[in-house]
Amino acid sequence: MKKNIDPEKQKKLAVERMEILFKKAEDVFTKNAERANRYIAIARRIAMKMNIRLTKIQKRHFCKHCYSFLLSGVNATNRTRNGKIITYCKVCKKYTRIPLTKRKL
Ligand SMILES: [Zn+2]
Repeated sequence: MKKNIDPEKQKKLAVERMEILFKKAEDVFTKNAERANRYIAIARRIAMKMNIRLTKIQKRHFCKHCYSFLLSGVNATNRTRNGKIITYCKVCKKYTRIPLTKRKL
């Protein structure tokens, strides 16, 4: 007989894992940036596989271009302009803009 694992349960587990990975990445970043990047890569892979959206906070913690972990003041700068948060990644030297206003659905 085929064993069916509840997909809802699996998703919950994946979300939990991602939270842990992001937290670990933050902890380890100051000591080992490469390992933090690896945690982000794993978290992203889980999200893609399970079709989960990253939370707002999680999205802001890595670079959209080079996927390296970003910590404001260390390898990233944040400033607001025209109602957008502009994050500058010091690793790949690119900008990411996040609108502060809620998008109309
Ligand atoms: Zn980058």
